[in-house]
Amino acid sequence: MALRFEVLGRFNRARAAQLTLPHFTCQTPLFMPVGTQGTIKGLTTDQLEEIGCQIILGNTYHLELRPGSQLIDDLGGLHKFMNWKRALLTDSGGFQMVSLLHLADITEEGVTFQSPVDGKPMLLTPEESIHIQNNIGADIIMALDDVVKTTITGPRIEEAMYRTLRWIDRCIAAHKKPDVQNLFGIVQGGLDPVLRDICVKGLVERNLPGYAIGGLAGGEDKDSFWRVVAQCTAGLPEDKPRYVMGVGYPLDIVVCSALGADMYDCVYPTRTARFGTALVPEGVLKLKQSVMATDERPIDPTCPCMVCKNYTRAYLHCLVTKDAMGSQLLSYHNLSFMMRLSRDLHMSILEGRFPEFVRGFLRMQFPKGDVPKWVRNAMVVAGIDIAECCTPAKCPRDAMDAPGTVKRICDCQAPAGAKLVPLLVSLTVGLAVRFLAPRPPEVSPQAWQLLSIFLSTIAGLVLGPLPVGAWAFLGLTAAVATHTLPFAAAFSAFTNEVIWLIVISFFFARGFVKTGLGDRIATYFVKWLGSSTLGLSYGLTISEAFIAPAMPSTTARAGGVFLPIIKSLSLSAGSKPNHPSSRKLGSYLVMSQFQAAGNSSALFLTAAAQNLLCLKLAEELGIIVANPWVAWFKAASLPAIASLLATPYLLYKIFPPETKDTPDAPALAAEKLKRMGPVTKNEWVMIGTMLLAVSLWVFGDAIGVSSVVAAMLGLSILLLLGVLDWDDCLNEKSAWDTFAWFAVLVGMAGQLTNLGIVSWMSICVAKLLESFSLSWPAAFCVLEASYFLIHYLFASQTGHVGALYSAFLAMHVAAGVPRALSALALAFNTNLFGALTHYSSGQAAVYFGGKFMST
Ligand SMILES: [Zn+2]
Repeated sequence: MALRFEVLGRFNRARAAQLTLPHFTCQTPLFMPVGTQGTIKGLTTDQLEEIGCQIILGNTYHLELRPGSQLIDDLGGLHKFMNWKRALLTDSGGFQMVSLLHLADITEEGVTFQSPVDGKPMLLTPEESIHIQNNIGADIIMALDDVVKTTITGPRIEEAMYRTLRWIDRCIAAHKKPDVQNLFGIVQGGLDPVLRDICVKGLVERNLPGYAIGGLAGGEDKDSFWRVVAQCTAGLPEDKPRYVMGVGYPLDIVVCSALGADMYDCVYPTRTARFGTALVPEGVLKLKQSVMATDERPIDPTCPCMVCKNYTRAYLHCLVTKDAMGSQLLSYHNLSFMMRLSRDLHMSILEGRFPEFVRGFLRMQFPKGDVPKWVRNAMVVAGIDIAECCTPAKCPRDAMDAPGTVKRICDCQAPAGAKLVPLLVSLTVGLAVRFLAPRPPEVSPQAWQLLSIFLSTIAGLVLGPLPVGAWAFLGLTAAVATHTLPFAAAFSAFTNEVIWLIVISFFFARGFVKTGLGDRIATYFVKWLGSSTLGLSYGLTISEAFIAPAMPSTTARAGGVFLPIIKSLSLSAGSKPNHPSSRKLGSYLVMSQFQAAGNSSALFLTAAAQNLLCLKLAEELGIIVANPWVAWFKAASLPAIASLLATPYLLYKIFPPETKDTPDAPALAAEKLKRMGPVTKNEWVMIGTMLLAVSLWVFGDAIGVSSVVAAMLGLSILLLLGVLDWDDCLNEKSAWDTFAWFAVLVGMAGQLTNLGIVSWMSICVAKLLESFSLSWPAAFCVLEASYFLIHYLFASQTGHVGALYSAFLAMHVAAGVPRALSALALAFNTNLFGALTHYSSGQAAVYFGGKFMST
């Protein structure tokens, strides 16, 4: 490791540090200007030193094209070549290719692109990127990562994150000069806290000299932006520098520094200079404006820079529109401004007046007190009271439009809105039922109206004109606005115990991932059982079942615990994803774990969120399972345990791994456990809390503690003892999302029952079934099979439950199937169809995202 990082002062999460690199000792927080061909446009290296630049960024892609890294190496490295004595950082070159060249494409091998010189296909691999950067010789070099825009979502984000983790190992292996150059890893994972978490952990395990937070500043909303930064800085080691890539707006730098970041780079200060815009403490000054033509003041009277000392706005106005000199002078001033900001951040933290500095900065930028909401949110987490700089904003658009920007995309710009065709179809379903279908005489007009709204809501959940939460809210609004339901009835399910239990269970799952407890438990099982492939698979399966009752999210178990373990086991056995060798070990382990997950989720009521949802919906239809946790376990244990035990063996026979023995796995697990050290305080708290929660779930009924109260007690303990902080809870978006839309749906379903719709429907179905003269066991099989097979149309288990569980349950009851059997069988079925296809559930997306199996 060729750097030393000493924290000299702190304020909460913010830190001022000294970063000693081979060529220069820097003070952080610091901003790094971006050069292209080894130069910052229009400035000499003497000028850069004069301004106070400590590190500048060299652009690997441009340097490789011209003059070529080999030549730079032959001439003694970039420092000598460009006559820059201070520190240098080079990027990996990958981002440039993806952003500059339309024809770039990313594969497991690397970034393929067409040469801009001769159009030939070329390939930049992690090894090649490091080789070039070794030639260039910068103090800090960056790992090649798989960059995706944060504004896209879905499996591509996950693929990129895991690929970035795989590539870092190739970068480390290729790095020839670790004694004089520092390789930084880059955290990817889009806006998904679980993926970011996995990536942070994976990189920290590799003990790199420094870490960058990548994939931001790409048009994501600012609230997501700062939350990702806050989450990553919290997870990265205290004694290593943290670099937020591509961030250069002064406001962003102040916020990120308050959250514990140290380094930044961006083309913004020099690029905006070329467009005639100067950075000033109040925001920006546009020198092209005609009022500048006669303004004799300097750009910024408080700025000590050479430009502000010597030139007037009027003179610069004259130049910026006509002469290259204009943009050079503005670049000089803008970089001076950024260096002054870096120094001010460093000194104010060091001198214990950081909050005052932040307040002064914000007061200057937002004299009306309209500090954007995201900044206010971030400052709460940073522990800086900025109340005195904030008065309520006049309108949200004003508040979101941060100054310091010229043509910045407005953050609050409405997203595209509803998708038209799904919207029309969903609305048509409801309107057709309401106005065209004849209302049966035994159903009241109010009930019929609610049914039509409910059907529109369900149609929207399936077709997705808007995100499910938003669509459910619209349904609720329709019910209240049309006087179909009184407000209190429409919102009744928001105070429902089970729904809160579901919300809290998401936080428990987060605790398992955050403390690393899930990882540790699974690693123990690998150590005990892992010397053969079959044993390994049993170890993983049993630990899944072991963790499941206390970690109620199959997806979090898959992504936060098991996939990373399977990956490292497979890689160390020479089984690589997206490669013929995946069949050696990886694809078998992934498939076996994926199939087992359905069984372990079905085994315990609290092993998956959808289980609780199912029982809640059953309750709305009047089917109440007494002492649910125990009743569930009794009903599920025999088939679920039998299938759990059979799954690894059956798969071993029908989908055999090529590697049968894994003699190294137990030793590797033991080594990993050693590296993890003794069980931490937080893990003990997590263990204790989970034991308490699970025992209360099992026995609580007898002493009058309901399931939700048990969960609330558990969460309170985790918060009190600092295992989870409130931010973790706020960041668990899926918890709040499920809460919102499911409460709406449960509420509507309950009212449909009250208004007699469900009993009417049941009678109709019963009549229909009678006409086929099916016995109840036959009807049961037909209904269960169709409920299962319909899942080919769904990409989410909870979505399927929300849309169809009630209807199928009503049909079961109408066909004469015993009520408790119907409710439980459908709920078990819900777990099983999660393993039906590669898109059928959250865990499917995780496991198939591992790329050990082709879809
Ligand atoms: Zn100046």
